[in-house]
Amino acid sequence: MTLREPADALARDLIRIDAQVTDKADAIRQAGQLLVAAGCVAPGYEASMAQREAVANTYLGSGVAIPHGLGEDKGLVRQDGIVVLQVPGGIEWNPGQIAHLVVGIAANSDSHIAILRRLTRLIQDEARLKGLFTTNDVALIADALHRDGADAAPASPAEDLAETIAWTVDYPSGLHARPAAAWVEAAKASGVTMRVRHGDETGDPRSLISLLQLGLKAGDSVTISATGDGAAQAIERFHGVITRLSSREKADAARAAEKALAPVRGWKPAGTPRMVAGVAASPGLAIGKVHLLAAAELEVVDQPVALIEGGQLLNDALVRTRAQMKALVDDTARRLGAGDAAIFTAQATLLDDTDLITLTCQLMVEGHGVAWSWNEAIQRLAGQLTALGNPVLAARAADLHDVGRRVLAQIDPGLGTGTLADFPDEPSILVAADLSPSDTASLDVAKVAGIATALGGPTSHSAILARTLGLPSVVAGGAELLALAAGCTAIVDGDSGRIWLNPSEEDLASARAWIATLADQRAAQEAERSRPAVTTDGCSIAIGANINQPEQAPFALAQGGEGVGLMRTEFLFLERGDSPSEDEQFAIYRAMIDALDGRPLIVRALDIGGDKQVPHLDLPREENPFLGVRGARLLLRRPDLLDPQLRALYRAAKLGGDLSIMFPMITSASELITLRDRCDEIRVALDAPQVPIGIMIEVPAAAVQAQALAAHADFFSIGTNDLTQYALAIDRQNPELASEADSLHPAVLRLIAMTVEGARSHNRWVGVCGGIAGDPFGAALLVGLGVDELSMTPRDIPAVKARIRAADRTALATLAARALAAESAADVRALDGEGA
Ligand code: PEP
Ligand code: MG
Repeated sequence: MTLREPADALARDLIRIDAQVTDKADAIRQAGQLLVAAGCVAPGYEASMAQREAVANTYLGSGVAIPHGLGEDKGLVRQDGIVVLQVPGGIEWNPGQIAHLVVGIAANSDSHIAILRRLTRLIQDEARLKGLFTTNDVALIADALHRDGADAAPASPAEDLAETIAWTVDYPSGLHARPAAAWVEAAKASGVTMRVRHGDETGDPRSLISLLQLGLKAGDSVTISATGDGAAQAIERFHGVITRLSSREKADAARAAEKALAPVRGWKPAGTPRMVAGVAASPGLAIGKVHLLAAAELEVVDQPVALIEGGQLLNDALVRTRAQMKALVDDTARRLGAGDAAIFTAQATLLDDTDLITLTCQLMVEGHGVAWSWNEAIQRLAGQLTALGNPVLAARAADLHDVGRRVLAQIDPGLGTGTLADFPDEPSILVAADLSPSDTASLDVAKVAGIATALGGPTSHSAILARTLGLPSVVAGGAELLALAAGCTAIVDGDSGRIWLNPSEEDLASARAWIATLADQRAAQEAERSRPAVTTDGCSIAIGANINQPEQAPFALAQGGEGVGLMRTEFLFLERGDSPSEDEQFAIYRAMIDALDGRPLIVRALDIGGDKQVPHLDLPREENPFLGVRGARLLLRRPDLLDPQLRALYRAAKLGGDLSIMFPMITSASELITLRDRCDEIRVALDAPQVPIGIMIEVPAAAVQAQALAAHADFFSIGTNDLTQYALAIDRQNPELASEADSLHPAVLRLIAMTVEGARSHNRWVGVCGGIAGDPFGAALLVGLGVDELSMTPRDIPAVKARIRAADRTALATLAARALAAESAADVRALDGEGA
């Protein structure tokens, strides 16, 4: 049996324009009757079609449904054929799925695939398909279903359409994804057929890939042409859109150039290797081959499924990815601004790319699995872009891979993880768009020499973890980092915030020498690390370590830590897929107390929220998580989180040690009083000893009201990371503002001074456990402001201790007074070396 030529199969009487159908069952019945009337099937096939609906979904997507009989009723099929019911108003096929074209199919399996191939092609041509939903012209529908891979129109010749306009690309970075996405949007909205020609190459401005494949660089001449009703006006409007983008493109390029020209402190290359400027996040210099997280190869197994099922799977995955990308765009726009969000908008455009979807469907129709087909289509198209040898297009290939991975994770969640696992054995530079705190925490320091990310901020938790791990790190390198770093050897300078790509042998040698000098300096400080931090005039400062796991304690003590000033317990939750039980927590706290052997341990109650999201807790999504239900606010609302933690802590305290409990993100005395009451109830119930209860001062309101809070707290520990973010209104993860988020800003220092004053009124001690405590100059200033304790990443301890031992407390107080009177953080930093 052979498939009748679609032109015959779709004789006019087999297409019902404006079909009057009451519901889905009625539509299936009518389609079946048409097939019977056409002699394609024997009576009874309609019933088989109806039964199929009970066991399978025949909604193909994009307003097209394809009812057909059950496999076991193939015997009822007399000859292959299709019929079409056009339902302009649409009919609900499944909840939320509206069919406008009901294509009844009678076919053996091979022919079925051929028909589907036509339909999948048609589905990709959204404008054409929409036209078919309402046209009165039977021939248009017949013709659309006639077209197939074999008889598709030949590639467009390098000719212009009727109306033309010439333009010279003046975007300094060429036509990269962000402006190209705006072109696609404008072309889609134009309502006419348009073409972009560069020399002999033409591109369809409605397809991002097609546009990017033109590889347009600054200075290239293009002809944009259009045809159809209103083509002249449409092309004018399009021209307006693309020229308006020029100023932003130029401003962006100028900003990048300016950033690159800023003077560098510390190590400098003698040559001129390519440099990407970011923000310093964790000190030190690291050399290694780049391991680009986004570029990890995935093993995608080819698991064919029934085509309908596959189509549905793909469609659902695309819908979910679109929703995910929309959330990402919203989130990025909120945190970084619409400009940076545009990169994800451009990426999302790829999800609708006709070339990509068509290729995927074709591979599926050839009998391949969904994930495999999608991955293959991504690889082929990305390969084409990379092969053009243009760095801008190579970056788009990275976008394509990125989007591809998102969709793959939706098709098969197993394909969305594990990319950090396949790290090469030799120490490498990890380059990624961004790293979550748990990604960073799980890094194997034997394999990672340094980190560079496109996004992120220096006080983000990932940066803090990088410092804890002693990994030189640069954040906020921008999207170009991902585009340029692949395949390079890189030097990451965590002091100047620069990443040097493919440096010469000479520069590599000088960087190695620099690393050796830093190591010597460190060794000298480390030799003295066990001596206490006592100023020359006899003022003793307690030095704690910020660590989260008992296994980190020996290193912290070996670095000169005199106890733990901050144990961030949320990482016990972040690093696993579920919440640790009370018993598990008890074991960890106990192990930490034992590891410290009588030295003080301050355990901070859970600080979840902000950038520390714990997926398995399913907390509601917040517009502004840093200003939302975070830290103590969450604990007060979630006794299921608070109580087991407090019980575990008091049980641990019963067995001895020097334990204190500290609550994060306290804004008011009433929060503290409620939390203290809860501590007491649990303590009494467990017959446990009293332990000091302190709070973190990380919200300006708490600093201003320090005196009132000191009446209820046994001690304060200032979280300068958050205090800086809230005082300066700078999201601690915002790369754009990262260099302005300096904890030595006089406004932050004044809040610290107020905190110390408030604490003194009730004889409470004050510590600082934010990042600035680990900066030798910052630590000196804090001592000058009257702080009693400093807690930091263990690696920072030797240098901070050395600085304090070399200083005179009275001189530091004078210095601090000058810092408080300074105008800016830069002015405060300029005081470094003057008396400290
Ligand atoms: C801080 O905010 O400074 C702090 C130490 O807490 P975290 O960094 O964990 O928010
Ligand atoms: Mg904090």
